Order: sequence, then C-alpha cells, then structure tokens
Amino acid sequence: SPKAALARPDREARARRLAGNNVAVEVKELRKNYGRQTVLDGIDLTVRAGEVVALLGPSGSGKSTLLRCINRLEGWEGGTIRVGGRFLGTDEGGRALSPRATAQMRAGVGVGMVFQQFNLFGHLTARENIAGPLRWVQGLSRLDADRRAQELLERVGLAHRADALPRHLSGGQQQRVAIARAVAPGPSVLLLDEPTSALDPELVGEVLEVIRRLAVEDGLAMIISTHQLHFAGEVADRIVFLAGGSIVEEGPADRVLNQPRHPLTARFLSTMA
Ligand code: ADP
Ligand code: MG
Repeated sequence: SPKAALARPDREARARRLAGNNVAVEVKELRKNYGRQTVLDGIDLTVRAGEVVALLGPSGSGKSTLLRCINRLEGWEGGTIRVGGRFLGTDEGGRALSPRATAQMRAGVGVGMVFQQFNLFGHLTARENIAGPLRWVQGLSRLDADRRAQELLERVGLAHRADALPRHLSGGQQQRVAIARAVAPGPSVLLLDEPTSALDPELVGEVLEVIRRLAVEDGLAMIISTHQLHFAGEVADRIVFLAGGSIVEEGPADRVLNQPRHPLTARFLSTMA
C-alpha cells in the first residue's frame, strides 16, 4: 500500500529543513517542442530547498524531458528555469553558454543527475567515476577528490568496491556509484530519472534505500521520476502528476496516492496498483 508514512522523527527533521523556504528550482511556463510536437506545455513547478518531489505519469508524458531541461541537457522554446536563483545555461543577457561553461555552471549552482541507465564511465573504476569529475569540473586536488570519493562510496555501502570497473558491478551497485557521483559536488538539487527501472527487481531495494537516506539525512532537494508508488509515498513530500506534457495534479504524496482528484491520475494509479 502507498499509505506508508515516515516515522515521526523523520517528519520533524524534514519540517525543520523545509522551514527555511529557500527555492531550489523554479520552472515557469516551460514549453518544449520536438519538431512540431509539444512535449512540455506550460510547466510551472517550484521545489523548495530540502523538498522531495516525485514525478509520476505515463510513459511519454514528458518526465525525462522536464528533468533534462532542468539540467540544461535540452534547450526549450518558452519559459524560464532557475536553479538556486540563477538562470542555468545562459549568461545574464540570456545568451546560451558553451557546453563547458554550462557544465561548470551546473556544478556551481548544484544540479546532480542520475539516469535510468547509470551512465558511468565504463573504463574508469568506481572511485575514478566519482573523483574524476571532482578534479575536472570542481578543480579538487587528486588527494581531496579521492578522499571525497571514498567517503561517498562508504555512504552508499561500496567502499570495498572502489577499484572495480562498472562491468564488474551489479546494476544496483552501478546505480549506487552513479548516485554517489551525482551527490559528490554537494548539489542543492538532485534529479533522478527512473533510477530503478533498469534494475532487476531484487536490486531495486538497495538503490531506493540509498536515495531515501539522502533525502532524510542530507535534506537534499530531489525531483525523482519513478513508478515505485510505495517509495514515492514514503519519501516524497509532494507528488506531481504529468500527463501529455502538463501537470494535471499535484499535492501532498499521501493525498495524491490515496485520493487522486484528476481522472487521469486515478486511472494511472489503478493500473500501477
Ligand atoms: P517520459 O519520460 O514521461 O516517458 P519523455 O520526456 O521521454 O517522457 O517523452 C515525452 C515525449 O517526447 C514523447 O512523446 C517522446 O516520444 C518525445 N521525445 C522524447 N525525446 C525525444 C527526442 N529526442 N526527439 C523527439 N521526440 C522525443
Ligand atoms: Mg522517461
């Protein structure tokens, strides 16, 4: 049942975290086309610092596209996106930045992303997957980058696999490395695009547990697209339901899961149950 509620202390820690009311991500009237198809049709979404938002919706509703726009992996046709108060990927005059400058800005304002297919560097060890970008993008020394990588591998339970190449890790382990890599620079928001849907069912739990801990213990703002309703009910503060490129319903996770108001949400939830 999606009714599972967080234990009280977690809820209290979260309430404190959200009390600051800083905005982590602000999407306004976002419109995105692929060719003549409108795939995002006026999206308004504000995520506060420390808030966890689960993005639900049928396949093709625009979840991945929205996350990719927020991380500036895609351009768009209308509207604005601000992360940590800054317009990501453009200079102050609104001109597009180079990919390198965008990568630095993305790191600077703090967006981390986790993909369905892990996207680890296949020729680099688990440690180097984390430490490499810390040196190349963040400018950390080798010593500091390795130290930070080791610390994160410990947090995701993989300290003993630091020297392994991705192909020698299970899917669940690879995704835990990818999460550690995304979190390493200390982002203010973490975007996760169906982080468990490429995993064998028996590996889903370990990945969700790592995400749950980051949400509860670190107070990291997150936007997670997922089909794991139970997980969404447990971890998310808010559920945003997308259909056909629009937000058709949003609200507190418990309310949306148990008493959906829009027929499309109700139908979607009944097919998932
Ligand atoms: P979701 O993640 O919710 O399944 P997507 O964001 O992947 O949805 O896709 C939204 C719509 O955009 C779909 O109709 C999909 O076919 C289309 N789409 C996604 N990526 C591309 C692309 N690179 N080129 C053209 N159409 C795309
Ligand atoms: Mg998708």
